[in-house]
Amino acid sequence: DRSIVSLFAQNRPLRSIEFFPPKDDAGVAALRATAAALQRISPDFVSVTYGAGGSTRERTAQVCAFLKSDFGFTVMPHLTCVGHTRDELHTLADQIHDNGFRNIMTLRGDPPKGADTFIPTTDGLRYASELAALLKTRHPDFCLGVAGYPEKHPEAASLEADIDNVKRKIDAGGDFVTTQLFFDNAVYLRFVEKCHARGITVPIVPGIMPVLSLKQIQRFTQMCGATLPAKLITRLEAAGENTDAVESVGLDWALTQIRELLVQGAPGYHLYILNRAKSALALAAGLAA
Ligand code: FAD
Repeated sequence: DRSIVSLFAQNRPLRSIEFFPPKDDAGVAALRATAAALQRISPDFVSVTYGAGGSTRERTAQVCAFLKSDFGFTVMPHLTCVGHTRDELHTLADQIHDNGFRNIMTLRGDPPKGADTFIPTTDGLRYASELAALLKTRHPDFCLGVAGYPEKHPEAASLEADIDNVKRKIDAGGDFVTTQLFFDNAVYLRFVEKCHARGITVPIVPGIMPVLSLKQIQRFTQMCGATLPAKLITRLEAAGENTDAVESVGLDWALTQIRELLVQGAPGYHLYILNRAKSALALAAGLAA
């Protein structure tokens, strides 16, 4: 695979798409169909999230493998510190590298369900910055993405402290930042400005989620600490139970966001599409129009 930073260096906005590992074979088949549909818009790269444990982690490896071999995508597996010793992380890094991947989304991971604080594994890592250092030392040709939170990470004392952490992750080997989802571009632009002031010069890619359901997005934003603008809520409420109308509000909001972000100089956009092709295809068409 090509390193994603070398793609950013081409100075054109990159389109990337995030998948999650499906729970069962039916989900895998659906994901294959989504991937086939997305080939039409040639995403610059795709990424696959890494679950909290067990079989979902094998699915991540499986999905990454077929997205690369059967669809020809540049694939960025996600990796987290959760439940892994340093030795295991070294082994995983070697496997990912041996399988031909050169990009990793480098994360701490969330505390397992039911726990509200992150407790590092014995002989494991505490922070994503430590994982970035481990991966870069093991394989210097890895290109590492790290997470950024325009509205701060829920556990961080302040946005400033959290941006200090982004800087730590970059200093440890992070090559670019992908942000948590947000719905107000001013929030992202302020974050980028603060990152620049803090000496962070790598690409900061906005993460965009086209809303598919008001309830679902209320749950997501509550979990990750992102704000839902009142205007968006009003529009979603007006669409009521009509799923097509809700999706079209979500799409229109995302399209407006992306258009403005690109005008403002964002290095691309990363789509959270929940394994469904429809919104990504519609956005690509909307942007091309
Ligand atoms: P870190 O960067 O380690 O930060 C965690 C917290 O610790 C922050 O509050 C930070 O400010 C603080 N901190 C860091 N270093 C220090 C220090 N030295 N001293 C004091 N405080 C410090 N989760 C998954 O489980 N799987 C995924 O695939 C996944 N993909 C994601 C993709 C993106 C783009 C994003 C934005 C998030 C993703 N997440 C994923 C969620 C992520 O794992 C959680 O948000 C997690 O709680 C924090 O991960 P992090 O890598 O940002 O952690």
